[in-house]
Amino acid sequence: MMLESFYLMIGKITVYFFLIAAVTTIFIAIFVIHSFRTGSFPFPNVVLSGILVLEGSIKALFRLFKVDDSIVDDVVIRLRNKVSLKRFKGLPFEKKSIFLPQCLRSVNCPAKLSPEGIQCINCGRCKIGDAKKKLESSGYRVFVVPGSSFIKRMVEKYRPEAILGVGCISEVKDGMDLCHRFGVPAVAIPLDTDGCISTELDWDVFYNTTKADKIASES
Ligand code: SF4
Repeated sequence: MMLESFYLMIGKITVYFFLIAAVTTIFIAIFVIHSFRTGSFPFPNVVLSGILVLEGSIKALFRLFKVDDSIVDDVVIRLRNKVSLKRFKGLPFEKKSIFLPQCLRSVNCPAKLSPEGIQCINCGRCKIGDAKKKLESSGYRVFVVPGSSFIKRMVEKYRPEAILGVGCISEVKDGMDLCHRFGVPAVAIPLDTDGCISTELDWDVFYNTTKADKIASES
């Protein structure tokens, strides 16, 4: 009899658990769509934690209703940006690293690969050379990323206190998750066009973000 009550209780707890998870999933999915459409992100830390715990079921729900599930990644990136931007802006340039994707390079890029990434020689064929020169003279450590494992290696080697990453949505989302595991605040700027070569970036947004220390100290 006691065993029956015990199994009954476990059954009830399981049903309640799945009910709460299902309701929370639906609630967060609605919130994600609302945030994506309006650009409004209230309670970013709470919502971010909810999305990360229920990410699989939220994306499954999106797919069930034939909604593009990359919206979830997009909203996670914007939430993480909202959480980390102030910290990123407030740190001195020397404590921050910037990771640019190699797909931003010209197809005729003459740069060679090294253990520290693609070694840009500022040949003028793309905007990376000029950006790298300006940012490094300010104190930033700037890398042109040759592959996905590179960021982890450089974070372990140089231990930056904050990171700015540029890339396609899935790449920057994975990069931000990695930084979160390392406890390093990360902000990201998704590329305007995805692809493996000659991708495009909104350089105004990029320079505004990298110059943000001044804005933070002035306010
Ligand atoms: S500026 Fe640098 S990254 Fe761009 S094409 Fe030239 S060497 Fe390559």
